[in-house]
Amino acid sequence: MNLHEYQGKSILKSYGVAVQEGIVIDKVEDAVEAAKKLTEQTGTGWYVVKAQIHAGGRGKGKVQETDSNGVVLAKGLGEIEDKVKGILGGHLMTAQTNGKAKKVNKVLIAQDVYYPGEAETEEFYMSVLLDRERGRNTIVYSTEGGMDIEAVAEHTPEKIYKEEIDPRVGIQGFQARNIAFNLGLSGQAFKEMTKFVVSLYNAYVGIDASMFEINPVLKTSDNKIIAVDAKVTLDGNGLFRHPDYAAMRDVTEEDPTEVEAGEAGLNFVKLDGNVGCMVNGAGLAMATMDIIKLSGGNPANFLDVGGTANAERVEKAFHIILKDPNVKAILINIFGGIVRCDRVAQGVVDAYKNMGNIPVPIIVRLQGTNAEEAKKLIDESGLNVHSAVLLQEAADKVKEVLA
Ligand code: GDP
Ligand code: MN
Repeated sequence: MNLHEYQGKSILKSYGVAVQEGIVIDKVEDAVEAAKKLTEQTGTGWYVVKAQIHAGGRGKGKVQETDSNGVVLAKGLGEIEDKVKGILGGHLMTAQTNGKAKKVNKVLIAQDVYYPGEAETEEFYMSVLLDRERGRNTIVYSTEGGMDIEAVAEHTPEKIYKEEIDPRVGIQGFQARNIAFNLGLSGQAFKEMTKFVVSLYNAYVGIDASMFEINPVLKTSDNKIIAVDAKVTLDGNGLFRHPDYAAMRDVTEEDPTEVEAGEAGLNFVKLDGNVGCMVNGAGLAMATMDIIKLSGGNPANFLDVGGTANAERVEKAFHIILKDPNVKAILINIFGGIVRCDRVAQGVVDAYKNMGNIPVPIIVRLQGTNAEEAKKLIDESGLNVHSAVLLQEAADKVKEVLA
């Protein structure tokens, strides 16, 4: 699960990491008051207005309606409302939004931290993530902050450093000092950086994040080290331990079909192919996707209906699969262990009849308890539903109907 910048920063603060302060708003009318409050809190006279969407690259991104960038500077209270109007409610496209613009429902009004002049500030890159191969947490960092880290990795890989942290002992003092040293810091800034790194690492571990990226980390002209941006991915499997972070979920940022499926208790992931899949059990779902691929098709989704494949769930699953206009056929592959195959077959037939006209052919493979009765039910239904016994046979039928 991803978080917004303002949420990531609030977590950082609770772990003692210094951040660029800000106040989030969702109405233009609240802009001036928020800016005034921020000035009371921080003394800032200039502000940065930042679109809150689940994507980076906002600074260079464009709001389609206004041509404003997704991160803009307001030089004083007088400019704040216009700058907010340019972003809030608009649609922002960045290098990271996959070719689609994202609606901006909230903006963060933040203090300007690049005072008094950019010449005296330095931008770094830092992220903590899980290295699955090494079984370690890794801090990736660079002197080249504020820009696209992928580009840095491609053109000047020698400017990217890594520090591996053993999760059993956590981050050690020498490791934090090593990082501050490699970033070329000394004196007060060096000390601040070591504190920053330790607190960031502790935040990453404490919230069960799988990624915590700060780009840029800023050295201010008065040698403070602060997080200007925050990009956080929480481990979904750890969310049950953190109801307060789970509540930070913003479903407007997620694929609406996946959200609907999740609410219905269906495990659904949208893919790009043309064969819809309805399967019980994640392992069988993976095998089904493999065989579709091997037969020359392409799965349109992963969908695990779980243990209770009754008519209602089957209908819901149909409904969700058919929302995708790319779907040209549906393959149902269900093993009837606890749930009887004839019940599932009846569910498929009922759902089909209930939904009226399903515009694509359906191939059904039911194996397990009462499989023969199930096949008979399908074969005698008179609907555009085809039965199969073997998985290969099912895949071949998919190929046939697609041809
Ligand atoms: P991103 O583009 O989505 O990664 O958003 P960031 O939060 O990283 O902001 C983009 C850029 O805006 C930064 O790299 C900075 O150059 C600039 N920026 C952010 N905060 C300030 C600020 O307080 N003052 C000024 N002058 N520029 C800022
Ligand atoms: Mn950034």
